[in-house]
Amino acid sequence: MTMDASRFEAIVGAGGVITDPVRLRTYECDGLTHHRATPGVVVLPESAQQISEIVKECLRLGMPYVARGSGTGLSGGALPRTDGVLIVTARMRRILSIDIENQRAVVEPGVINLDVSKAARPYGYYFAPDPSSQQICSIGGNVAENSGGAHCLKYGFTSHHVLACEIVCPDGEIVELTRDGAGYDLLGAFVGSEGTLGITTKVTVRLTRLPETVQTLLAAFGSIEAGGEAVSAIIGAGVVPAAIEMMDALAIEAAEAAVHCDYPPGAGAVLIVELDGPSAEVEHQFKDVTRICQEMGAFETRIAADDAERALIWKGRKSAFAAVGRISPAYLVQDGVIPRTALPGVLARIDALSRESGVRVANVFHAGDGNLHPLVLFDDAEPGAAERAEEVSGKILDLCIEHGGSITGEHGVGVDKSRYMPRMFTEGDLDTMQMVRCAFDPAGLCNPGKVFPTPRLCGEVPGVRKGVHPLVEQGKADLF
Ligand SMILES: Cc1cc2nc3c(=O)[nH]c(=O)nc-3n(C[C@H](O)[C@H](O)[C@H](O)COP(=O)(O)OP(=O)(O)OC[C@H]3O[C@@H](n4cnc5c(N)ncnc54)[C@H](O)[C@@H]3O)c2cc1C
Repeated sequence: MTMDASRFEAIVGAGGVITDPVRLRTYECDGLTHHRATPGVVVLPESAQQISEIVKECLRLGMPYVARGSGTGLSGGALPRTDGVLIVTARMRRILSIDIENQRAVVEPGVINLDVSKAARPYGYYFAPDPSSQQICSIGGNVAENSGGAHCLKYGFTSHHVLACEIVCPDGEIVELTRDGAGYDLLGAFVGSEGTLGITTKVTVRLTRLPETVQTLLAAFGSIEAGGEAVSAIIGAGVVPAAIEMMDALAIEAAEAAVHCDYPPGAGAVLIVELDGPSAEVEHQFKDVTRICQEMGAFETRIAADDAERALIWKGRKSAFAAVGRISPAYLVQDGVIPRTALPGVLARIDALSRESGVRVANVFHAGDGNLHPLVLFDDAEPGAAERAEEVSGKILDLCIEHGGSITGEHGVGVDKSRYMPRMFTEGDLDTMQMVRCAFDPAGLCNPGKVFPTPRLCGEVPGVRKGVHPLVEQGKADLF
């Protein structure tokens, strides 16, 4: 479909609009590569005002639009619309202020996660949420997905570190959402809304003081179940590590092949446990953690002697997703949550599922908060293999629900998991969520087709007025 891009060129200039079919293909998917759609047009704004004008133009034309940060999302949240506009924040990468006295920074949405920490580090601070993709993902994407990371066990998710967001609402108005005011916590509703309630144009984030000491331990176990027991025992002993990450034998094999991380040979699972804080406290707790790991059957425990060794331990973990590409032509990244105490049982069931189906599953995950990331391996050249992998992947989510967990921990629902929503929520629950969405976006143009299993116009949701913006309905579209 060819789209008349001149209206958008008038807003951002010709250099900020992409219509060339070859260049458009760069944007046809995010990290979830098996869902693809070429955007009608890509627009690269430089300010909130420009985004507001783009959104108003879309509203006038009845055209859907999708925001995109760095496109690393793993649930297809930034999947574009062939009949719509993809609004990419790559030109909005300024760190506007670092306010150490008030421990906060104000950044544009396209700023890369790690760049906030780099800017704050000279003052002894950093931005705590650390997705494994932190070298490339954007703060706007982090806010939309309420992203987590290895250290969220102790420090919390993005929502715990966002103090305010300037957003462009689906009617084009620019507003600031904060936690300070009276009334409903709209910032709370917005963070994690997967780009469906508006577009973030400025974010005020909390900065966290760098810890006095960080120590990292690698413990190798004969089996993943033993590793799971150790996780429960560590937390049960009252220790709150900054991170506890686990990888199984297949994930270790992939990481070794990719980055030579020197994990103990023959391990059925490794645990990475990181403690941070005042030196005396870390020292003391580390003794407990080492002892517990040994009691739970660790056949090797290794404490990183210096920053280089610590970085190598983490390199294996952080490269694991990509590394799995070395041992399998294709794979699905799953993201589910279970209560931490259910880890050993659920991991054993995943193993059984894998053996029964003949589909290999590599496990690499945030063990401390029960956030599983099974990587379901398949050969995309083999007929039916993708479907079998999809089936195993769905059964793993069923296991999570069965154990009182969730179909997503941090990657979001997007397009990928919308069909699983009815397994977790009743029709009434879903209607209530849609009412929130309709309150923000009555015209249903802001990232439609994401999160909900059956895309519906607002008028089709019980209790919600029809799917046209009230001002358009009143014949006042020219006010936009
Ligand atoms: C190798 C790898 C490792 C990963 N590890 C982790 C991890 O440890 N933890 C984790 O949580 N995630 C992880 N992710 C997933 C992903 O990096 C995060 O979801 C990240 O926050 C997405 O940021 P992005 O800038 O790439 O967003 P995109 O993929 O561009 O967009 C994601 C969603 O945000 C919306 N969006 C983007 N910008 C805005 C904006 N300004 N306003 C409103 N909506 C917006 C989009 O519409 C979309 O719905 C990983 C991904 C990869 C590829």
